[in-house]
Amino acid sequence: MSVKRFFRVLLGLALLAVFVYVQYCNYQVAPKLLEPEGWKQAAETPAPVLESEQPVIPEFTPVESESVEVQPTEAPAEQTPEPTLEPDSPEARAAALGLPAPPEIDIDSWEFILANDYNSIGEYVPQNPTTLEGQTFDERIIEPLRAMVADTREQGLSVFLSSGYRSYADQRYLYNRKVAQYPPEGKDSNGRWIVLPPGTSEHQTGLACDITDIYYEFKDRNLENTAMYQYMSQHCQDFGFIVRYPADKEEVTGVMYEPWHFRYVGVEAATYIMDNGICLEEFISLYREIYTADNPAPEA
Ligand SMILES: [Zn+2]
Repeated sequence: MSVKRFFRVLLGLALLAVFVYVQYCNYQVAPKLLEPEGWKQAAETPAPVLESEQPVIPEFTPVESESVEVQPTEAPAEQTPEPTLEPDSPEARAAALGLPAPPEIDIDSWEFILANDYNSIGEYVPQNPTTLEGQTFDERIIEPLRAMVADTREQGLSVFLSSGYRSYADQRYLYNRKVAQYPPEGKDSNGRWIVLPPGTSEHQTGLACDITDIYYEFKDRNLENTAMYQYMSQHCQDFGFIVRYPADKEEVTGVMYEPWHFRYVGVEAATYIMDNGICLEEFISLYREIYTADNPAPEA
């Protein structure tokens, strides 16, 4: 019995020695840096330890994606200063015609309503039609018009407001009468409108005024020889008005020269138009495509 017990104890010690030896070998294999975490974990899962180090790399990946995001924002910033003029900008269109940069205005604002043979305003009615010296206008031009007339009179000149707002119905009456006088369309010998068809007259906008001299009330080109016209055509832009149908723009406006017809567009636009000798159609064309006498809509 004692011999059997001795061998059992010996076998137990041997097994214990083998176990201790195996554990000792595992401990030696484990990296020393991982010692604090325990030899067993390090010895059993060397691969997961390496994987747990890999998340350090994914932490850098977002940094790389951020730098990728930064690059595209930097690239356009470098490109933006390069083009000086945008191809379809008013500045570029003006430059192509040898004109200076036009004012920054809202071309769709009421001052730039365009009524001509190619742009009908239908039965448009001005804002709160208001009377000045017997004529009716859009209320928004009453003060500028009053100021222009007062300034001209201060020069000792005789101003007469001959015609302001005309309704669609009024224009239809005048037009039909002119057609009867000048059949078949009421145009002059050069093919220009004398009275425009209803819906295409600028008088229907309430932004225009025929101005003659008290001592020369005829609406013909000789009006340009009056001191009144010569003064007013040089100063109208200071009050926001333009000579709407210049002698050298009949091909664009489609309307014969009218030294009596003034149109409100605001001081900025008026100054640009008068300083550069262009007409309203040419001015609006800098901002948007329109049909004019020399660029009519295609025949339907
Ligand atoms: Zn007129």
